Amino acid sequence: MNILLIDDEPEILKILELYLTKKQHSVKMAENGKRGLQHFFHSPDQVDLVLCDVRMPNTNGIDVLKQIRLSGSQVPFVFMSGHADEEMNVQETGLAFDHFLLKPFNMKRVIELVEAY
Ligand SMILES: [Mg+2]
Repeated sequence: MNILLIDDEPEILKILELYLTKKQHSVKMAENGKRGLQHFFHSPDQVDLVLCDVRMPNTNGIDVLKQIRLSGSQVPFVFMSGHADEEMNVQETGLAFDHFLLKPFNMKRVIELVEAY
């Protein structure tokens, strides 16, 4: 599976990349929302799943989801956040997303979730 990871915390990108590549997934990483969108729109057909942080400076996770949905893409989209209350904020946008992963996450659970898509 081709996975796009977007998070402003390098440690999160590193650990997810480590586990996901170990499971033979192909991973593209972006350290902010703007770069994440650039990666996505460069080759939207080559992204099977987006894992995206909610809180990021400038272009946050909600902005990323909004741009992707406005383009007409229905790519599976999973939010990640260290703040449980963000789940309500993202739901209130009315934008379609598939899952909300609370950090710190259990990597086994993350792999199970990814492999369910
Ligand atoms: Mg963040």
